[in-house]
Amino acid sequence: MNFEVVTLFPEMFDSPFAGSIIGKAVAKGLVRITAHNLRDWAEGRHQVTDDTPYGGGEGMVMKPEPLCRAIRSLKQQYPAARVLMMSPQGRRFDQQQARQLADEESLIFLCGRYEGFDERVRSYVDAEYSIGDFVLTGGELPAMVMIDAVARMIPGVLGNQGSAEADSFSDGLLEHPHYTRPAEFEGRQVTEVLLSGDHARIAAWRRSQQLLRTLQRRPDLLEHVPLTEKDRVELKRLKEMLRHDKNNENT
Ligand code: SAM
Repeated sequence: MNFEVVTLFPEMFDSPFAGSIIGKAVAKGLVRITAHNLRDWAEGRHQVTDDTPYGGGEGMVMKPEPLCRAIRSLKQQYPAARVLMMSPQGRRFDQQQARQLADEESLIFLCGRYEGFDERVRSYVDAEYSIGDFVLTGGELPAMVMIDAVARMIPGVLGNQGSAEADSFSDGLLEHPHYTRPAEFEGRQVTEVLLSGDHARIAAWRRSQQLLRTLQRRPDLLEHVPLTEKDRVELKRLKEMLRHDKNNENT
């Protein structure tokens, strides 16, 4: 899969993807990440990419011409590529979209700076994505976040594809807690179930923990998760348990 990034700071992309899992995926040829300097599509001796806003006000605005030239040139190379604009005003990026975008052949990321893009650039993009309700100084970190999340969904990128399937949000719930050796650490024991070797009990405990964690930390997720009858019964039990614990705290 090709990730083509249009940025004023291509050097920012050198190190984050050089090592570890994504670095290995690049080495194996599963993903290709190329950061292009937007200035290469700017004209004139000074290769200007921004200008003052019409109507006055603070900051600079990214000019439409270099961006549209960049999009056209990359689309010529990758006709099927989807063009994604990094923007705090875009739709909130999540795991489901990471999974969907991993099916694409090529993605083009537009990284903004200053006050952002001239509004007319929006007509040339397929989707606008935000990584959260906060404003960063540039679109490079959002593009990196998205590339990492999408790349790990590509078959073969993770050593163990099962781990992506068990991750938080994959089935709509948060993931269960993890433990490793030692079985006791500073008086804290690993739950007996995980040491039992009984796979059915372990699976049931993990599912129950997923439901409990989601109920406690992200109850909003439960509104959209397809739950089995067994899950519903367990969820009811967990809710009663939490209510009971709260009542005991208050007395
Ligand atoms: N003036 C813009 C606004 O209020 O919507 C914010 C511009 S921001 C300082 C500069 C660039 O950073 C944006 O064009 C975008 O590419 C990127 N950016 C900032 N926050 C972002 C976020 N939460 N998600 C995605 N991109 C973001």
